[in-house]
Amino acid sequence: MKKYHLLLGGVVLGLGVILFLPRAQKEKEKEKEAFLPWFKGNTHTHTLWSDGNDFPDMVVDWYKGKGYDFLALSDHNILSRGDKWMKSAAIKSRQKTDGPSALDKYRKRFGEDLVEVRGEEGAEEVRLRTLDELRSEFEEEGRFLLIEAEEITDRFERHQVHINALNLEELIPPQKGTSVVDTMRNNLRMVREQAERLGKPIVAHLNHPNFHFSFTAEQLAEVVEEQFFEVYNGHPGINHLGDETHPGDEQLWDMANGIRIGEMKAAPLYGIATDDSHEYHGGNVSPGRGWIMVRAERLEADLLMRAVERGEFYSSSGVTLKEVSFRKGVVELEIEGQPGVTYKTQFIGTRSGDGAAAGEELDVSESLQPVYRLRGDELYVRARVTSSMDHPNPSYAGQKEQAWTQPVGWKKVISGEE
Ligand SMILES: [Zn+2]
Ligand SMILES: [Zn+2]
Repeated sequence: MKKYHLLLGGVVLGLGVILFLPRAQKEKEKEKEAFLPWFKGNTHTHTLWSDGNDFPDMVVDWYKGKGYDFLALSDHNILSRGDKWMKSAAIKSRQKTDGPSALDKYRKRFGEDLVEVRGEEGAEEVRLRTLDELRSEFEEEGRFLLIEAEEITDRFERHQVHINALNLEELIPPQKGTSVVDTMRNNLRMVREQAERLGKPIVAHLNHPNFHFSFTAEQLAEVVEEQFFEVYNGHPGINHLGDETHPGDEQLWDMANGIRIGEMKAAPLYGIATDDSHEYHGGNVSPGRGWIMVRAERLEADLLMRAVERGEFYSSSGVTLKEVSFRKGVVELEIEGQPGVTYKTQFIGTRSGDGAAAGEELDVSESLQPVYRLRGDELYVRARVTSSMDHPNPSYAGQKEQAWTQPVGWKKVISGEE
């Protein structure tokens, strides 16, 4: 009898270890993640390679000087490769503000020797440096990284379909399509094809959905192969807050994710904040407004992209988070507080069931360590932290500094397990 009990005990113990192990391992991995460093980067930047108004070196120098860890130059339908010369008169005409010319500033910063000019005076042209040249000039291991990117700039009728492909190596021309959704799908298919063929992660994020009010929440929901969109873009002309008849970017996010998780049992969109900077001489489409903080093992493009794919990042327009975690149904944040500044954290989610409001405020906290315990009827929960500080360089009137975390709690809903 005793022997039998011992045997049974052993079997139960063994079974317990087998059942328990994956969960324990998962927890261990999550704990390991908590010690990984955060890397700050902007994934949407324009230079003279397309319609930006400064030299790529000057733009990279700006971001590196401001302490960014990585930067993606994402010009419209072009990679920073090959021989490209630009007329200095054309450069000047892009500079809408007074003061020294972009070329003069460029020469002053990098010296006459580095700046290559050809042609007669008055009709001179300047060579734009390539990504390879910029890499050897600016990259430093563990300190600063450039990620190759393109803003695939497509449209369907009046709808602007702009998708940033990060960490690609070959140009993807706009693919066109027979509808907004079809246009999006055709471009994303090319991104996926290249990622598979080259065997590397390429992150594609849909840009500024409210630019010309190009997208509805239903369209954003439908294209489930798109995992990312811009929840904040620093360009002042992209209708971030929506208008009387159109929801703002954040409302679109909640509406689309409610449909995806609740009705389609599909993964939600993650939200990325970017600059979409074009003007570097005092204009209003300026750099430094939106970025992502990615938690990764090291500052390497593939590792960063994989971390982004796993949702190991948050977006910011000024608020810094020391910690973001989701464990055992509990969302926890730790805000890096500044003296004299207060922070409001809203836990926002959509509940299951017919008639549930998209993007309800589920709870609110003024703590620097806000916590939200899922009740069980949420399709997902995300957090938005708003600082009492006015944004130092706002893209819309009354803007405050903010941070946005990614939706969590949805895996259980779409797969039935944690
Ligand atoms: Zn765009
Ligand atoms: Zn852009």
